Amino acid sequence: MKWQGRRQSTNVEDRRGRSVKGAAIGGGVGGGILIAVIMLVLNFCGGGDLSQIPDSTQLDSQTAATTYQETQQEDELAQFVSVVLAETEDVWTEIFSANDMAYSYPGLVLYTDYVESACGIAGSATGPFYCPPDQKVYIDLSFYKELQQRFNAPGDFAMAYVISHEVGHHVQNLLGIMDEVNSAQAGASEAEANEYSVRLELQADYLSGVWAHYVERMNLLEEGDIDEALNAASAVGDDRIQKQSQGYVVPDSFTHGTSEQRQRWFYKGFTTGTLEGGDTFNTDNL
Ligand SMILES: [Zn+2]
Repeated sequence: MKWQGRRQSTNVEDRRGRSVKGAAIGGGVGGGILIAVIMLVLNFCGGGDLSQIPDSTQLDSQTAATTYQETQQEDELAQFVSVVLAETEDVWTEIFSANDMAYSYPGLVLYTDYVESACGIAGSATGPFYCPPDQKVYIDLSFYKELQQRFNAPGDFAMAYVISHEVGHHVQNLLGIMDEVNSAQAGASEAEANEYSVRLELQADYLSGVWAHYVERMNLLEEGDIDEALNAASAVGDDRIQKQSQGYVVPDSFTHGTSEQRQRWFYKGFTTGTLEGGDTFNTDNL
């Protein structure tokens, strides 16, 4: 993506090098409640290990304040993420206004190791996520390396896809879709709740594609960008992740969709570029 010299978002909060204070979540908030709360988090892929959320006793050893020393590469990555966020602000403002709605910007928090959100405390192993109550996207920039190495999905636009997928969740939040899904999930069986989750995630992939459609219209795409996004979408499919981590797949437990579905919905958003085309909740062809 052609990003250098472009506007950076002012809604990025840099909390890197600042560890979470155990005292802040001590007292009445037990580990069990924290884990229940964290389930509301919309993390980027099913591979994140939620059991790695520390309880407050573990966090007590993490309270030392350190000055975060970023490398030149990290500095560049942080700038890139800010530009991507700014581009999502412009695109979604335009789309919302064309539909007579006002878009409010999400925040984006850069962190290292652990972070405290309105959804609870999360560690880097959770992967990038969006927290609906505070309307912020949380990302540890080390995920870029994880995309390259663990998911074999390199490239700047793979990262752009990740950010715009999370912003897609923010769009769903503003449109009230997230509330509807939460209510529907409340009375559902686990398999049904998982299917709602898959539909929500595939729609976020679609919305990420809609954003990419506008990026192309602004002539900001470079050769290979869409392939990078499609490769990343495939790499974080539930079937791919389960096969790699446990050797077999359990479709009922899918929460994000298969590699093929994630690619297809991103690409549909990219080619259509409209809000209407992304109704993943009323289709037999998921
Ligand atoms: Zn998601």
